[in-house]
Amino acid sequence: MITGKNCIAGDFSAKGNVEFKTMDPKLNIENPTTFVEATKEEIEEAAISAWNAFKVYRKVSGKQRAAFLNAIADEILALDQELVDMYVTESGLPEGRAKGERGRTMNQLRSFAELVANDDWRENTFDAAQPDRKPLPKDDLRKTMIPLGPVAVFGASNFPLAYSTAGGDTASALAAGCPVIVKSHPMHAGTSELVASAIVKAAEKTGMPKGVFSSINGGIQAGVDLVNHPKIKAVGFTGSITGGRALFDIAAKREEPIPVFAEMGSVNPVIITPSALSKRGNEIAKTYAGSITLGTGQFCTNPGLLLTVKSENTQDFVKELAKETIALDPQCMLHPNIKSGYEKKGADVTSQSGVEVVGKVEGELEPNYAASVVATVSGTEFLANPKLHQEVFGPFSMVVQCKDEAELLQIIEGLEGQLTGTLIAEESDSLDLMEMVDALQNRVGRIIYNGVPTGVEVCPSMQHGGPYPASTDSRFTAVGTHAIKRWVRPVSYQSFPKNLLPDHLKG
Ligand code: NAP
Repeated sequence: MITGKNCIAGDFSAKGNVEFKTMDPKLNIENPTTFVEATKEEIEEAAISAWNAFKVYRKVSGKQRAAFLNAIADEILALDQELVDMYVTESGLPEGRAKGERGRTMNQLRSFAELVANDDWRENTFDAAQPDRKPLPKDDLRKTMIPLGPVAVFGASNFPLAYSTAGGDTASALAAGCPVIVKSHPMHAGTSELVASAIVKAAEKTGMPKGVFSSINGGIQAGVDLVNHPKIKAVGFTGSITGGRALFDIAAKREEPIPVFAEMGSVNPVIITPSALSKRGNEIAKTYAGSITLGTGQFCTNPGLLLTVKSENTQDFVKELAKETIALDPQCMLHPNIKSGYEKKGADVTSQSGVEVVGKVEGELEPNYAASVVATVSGTEFLANPKLHQEVFGPFSMVVQCKDEAELLQIIEGLEGQLTGTLIAEESDSLDLMEMVDALQNRVGRIIYNGVPTGVEVCPSMQHGGPYPASTDSRFTAVGTHAIKRWVRPVSYQSFPKNLLPDHLKG
């Protein structure tokens, strides 16, 4: 049973009087629970409790933190159908997706548990003393990673579990030794509360300090107050460029600026060479129709931009892609606001000079269902109009027909930073593939060869982050175990007696 309350240091609390409800986008009605936004006082209590918990939690052994993370995964599973039903009701996504995402969330928690069960992840570095070194002796130096402090996490609307309350940001921060305060996403506050209750139970069962986790309900102001709180030492965010950039600027203007790791928009360019189009254009069209519409296009890795060099097969490919895309059943979007954002941005892009809509699902759709769109434009028009470069969050993709290889390269080099870039090519191709790879790798965090960008494997070699505005710090990833590096900083111990060193530096 959910309460609609905030979870402040393990206790459920509702001192405020601003209320809201979530939506069932499929039924287009409000869900029954009334949620209460956190007050400034509750945010203060969460932050102070997190700071007090940090003093204890940062010293908790890796094995104990691993037990905590595994217990969270167990408690999430124990929520069973109640969690699945709540997820479906609040997101409009199907039950299969809910279960898949729950599995991914648990795997993330367990992989961080495995990572921190020993101290290798800290990249401990030892330099032995050289007392006889000339002209000066060298001191004993030992470097390790320590946690930053309490982290504020902003969950994503499009991943109510895997990038939300116990998602990758929370799992990696808790693994690093940082308490977490989540600003739950108002579109799935019920799912968040259930997961928060699982984290609280896991913390109690494994003896973690109370303030190690809190979750607050609220709008923009609650998020701003949280990021401005002096006891918050870092921020994890997934969502829009507007939101991520606003929080980044707020964090930078604090008396003590703090890092904001925001993962934001991307159009995920896909280069399809004329050789690939000529050999397997129809197959590529079918595969990409599936990728463009997967999850109603509500993925940060959605292929929003397909780049081709005009050839005799281009027109056929564009038509085939449109045909395959609109043949797929329209799906529900996460929320009426996401649907209206999709339609507004889509209309903005398709009304630009030179843009032709090649395929669009027509006719009356259920409320909050999205009409998939495939558009096309010339490379020259694309280069001249920055409005065409923006993300249309939903089942939308634009095929850019470049006049030659040079124009294609110019487009890639002029793109904003991206999470992914894909190359669809043949082994012996008419394009200079190495040149394409060189250009792409400078703009993206992950390069895919002959595949699709949707589907982000959770493993250590995954890079999910790219040059701005894909993320605010391209040196880090939001997915995979290396995500822990965002929440730690290096410290060197010089000439220390063993008894004063942390255990993992004593060796
Ligand atoms: P969002 O609007 O950026 O919101 C994400 C979270 O940040 C919410 O909790 C939101 O609170 C908060 N927030 C937003 N602006 C803020 C600000 N100026 N100051 C403080 N907090 C702020 O993202 P969304 O709701 O998930 O989706 C909206 C749009 O974001 C989509 O239509 C899409 O364009 C984009 N999006 C992109 C990705 C991606 O991975 N590329 C993923 C999801 C969404 P409130 O809800 O209370 O405003």
